[in-house]
Amino acid sequence: MIRQTPVMRICISCRKTYDRKHLIKITKDQKQGLIFQEGMGRSAYICKSKKCCTDSKIKKKLQKALKTSLEPEFFNIFEKEITNYNDYPNKGI
Ligand SMILES: [Zn+2]
Repeated sequence: MIRQTPVMRICISCRKTYDRKHLIKITKDQKQGLIFQEGMGRSAYICKSKKCCTDSKIKKKLQKALKTSLEPEFFNIFEKEITNYNDYPNKGI
């Protein structure tokens, strides 16, 4: 078996297909709740484009994809995570 085909996943925002390595994975883990980049369970993927990370409908799309209602605290974490993945310089500097 030659494993050279990348695992492709669809961004829930732009619906484009990407190599999984280039996507942010959000998993609804049975025990830990929502976690990033690991875990077992229903997962959603978002690409790292600014357009998708700042999509105003991303919360709804995530809730639909993960089939769960998301806590506001989750989005605080989510936004921080997104910021980590985007190498934007801090605003105002
Ligand atoms: Zn996208």
